Amino acid sequence: MSWAVGALRLGPGLRVPLSGAWWRLSPAYSVGTVKSQLMQHGSPEEPVRHSKVSIIGTGSVGMACAFSVLAKGMSDEVAFVDVDENKLKGEVMDLQHGSIFLKMPNIVYSKDFDVTAKSAVVVITAGARQAKGETRLNLVQRNVVIFKEMIGSIVKHSPHCKIIVVSNPVDILTYVTWKLSGLPKSRVIGSGCTLDTARFRFLIGQKLGIHSESCHGWVLGEHGDSSVPVWSGVNIAGVPLKDLNSAIGTKEDPEHWETIHKEVIGSAYQIIKMKGYTNWAIGLSVADITESILKNLRRTLPVSTIVKGLYGVKEDVFLSVPCILGENGISDLIKIKLSPAEEAQLKESAETLWGIQKALKF
Ligand code: NAD
Repeated sequence: MSWAVGALRLGPGLRVPLSGAWWRLSPAYSVGTVKSQLMQHGSPEEPVRHSKVSIIGTGSVGMACAFSVLAKGMSDEVAFVDVDENKLKGEVMDLQHGSIFLKMPNIVYSKDFDVTAKSAVVVITAGARQAKGETRLNLVQRNVVIFKEMIGSIVKHSPHCKIIVVSNPVDILTYVTWKLSGLPKSRVIGSGCTLDTARFRFLIGQKLGIHSESCHGWVLGEHGDSSVPVWSGVNIAGVPLKDLNSAIGTKEDPEHWETIHKEVIGSAYQIIKMKGYTNWAIGLSVADITESILKNLRRTLPVSTIVKGLYGVKEDVFLSVPCILGENGISDLIKIKLSPAEEAQLKESAETLWGIQKALKF
């Protein structure tokens, strides 16, 4: 076991990681120290973790996921892994220094995956970035190589965990994770259209002057450009907007509500152009998924899962549909009724994704 910043040797074979990994147990109890005078030593405590969350990748998205999870105070240990040791240590130190302001759990980090042991949830935000002019297939194939090592280590150390995949292209990488992990499909979850749906609901709220939480609607299918807005289901307080405007979401709509979905798609590009990446909304979406799992809330969220057998999809592709998320991951899907056009769009996405997936070499 290697620890990023060293370890205390307490006796033959007993090492305790530094850096806040566990509370510093200690030689500091030796006679005459401040600690020995201040405290009466009880029995040694074995750490028991029930809601450990590990974040793989400490880039902008990984850190936003971590901060959102920490702000909700739902985890008893957060572990970080990154190949870039300086970035990893810098981010974790900075975060730890804020522990007086949040009820922060233990925070551990290492470039080795043993630090993730016994996680309840593992969030993957690491992976290769698309190079200029690189095909999607090539990008995914490069990620398969990276994921092979990552997923094997995650499952070895946390055989009972639920994995949330965030890295893009998220639907395909969720499939890759499922294939490589050998975990049941219920425990491999793509963040999918949670972000797209959050953006959709926010923009509807802006148009109506109502808080986004009270604007109900779903964006399903493939995360990103080919996502499908389900206009038939958009409602406020149970009032379907389609009953008030039968052309809503179509090109014939005189109010042009369809521009909201265009904005959902365009906003990622717009934000990246302005600040270089998107992170806060995806971080909050991931924390919402994590909370539903850790607290067994059984909320319905638009996450990416295998949709084989639904909407005419015949292959093992991951797309977003409303899923019930609880302590065992995805327990059920909601069979939302789609219009023929929406169903055709979903099927087309599935065929595009399968075209890439079937060419992958594992
Ligand atoms: P980033 O490049 O800032 O961070 C990625 C981090 O992963 C880096 O710190 C890097 O060192 C680390 N890393 C790379 N390979 C690793 C490995 N093998 N093991 C451990 N760590 C490794 O990227 P970002 O802006 O944080 O974005 C992360 C991913 O999230 C990207 O794929 C991005 O497209 C995706 N994303 C997804 C959504 C969504 O809705 N699903 C939204 C935004 C971003």
